Amino acid sequence: MDTALAHRLRTAGVQPSAQRLAVASYVLDTLEHPSADQVLERVQAELPMLSRATVYNTLHLFVRQGLLRQLVLAEGKVVYDPRLEPHHHFIDDQTGRIEDVPWQAVKVGDVGTLRGYEIREYMVVMRGRRLPAPRGKKK
Ligand SMILES: [Zn+2]
Repeated sequence: MDTALAHRLRTAGVQPSAQRLAVASYVLDTLEHPSADQVLERVQAELPMLSRATVYNTLHLFVRQGLLRQLVLAEGKVVYDPRLEPHHHFIDDQTGRIEDVPWQAVKVGDVGTLRGYEIREYMVVMRGRRLPAPRGKKK
């Protein structure tokens, strides 16, 4: 069993059961921005007895305890993101793939001076297509 992961859960105030560890080992270490159903599918491959309710409850618990962020990036689609530091997102029109974009890569106007609002957080969600990598260069 992954004791570092168990420690991480405990530190966040989450009792590390076998099921929670199975969910955590995928969702706290992925760049895929999975939906709850995708998490269920992935984790069930390891732990077939895992119920949908357990996965949903565990995801909500992780969000509540600050281990995970819940994002709505596309209409009606909730995804989970273990990267807690500020960053932006790019969504590929064709594949629906969600990629992280470094915070510094996009310059946003002075959000803090928006009158009549207290801004808690913000991010830029970009949509488009990924261009083929230039020849002779990897990725
Ligand atoms: Zn992200």
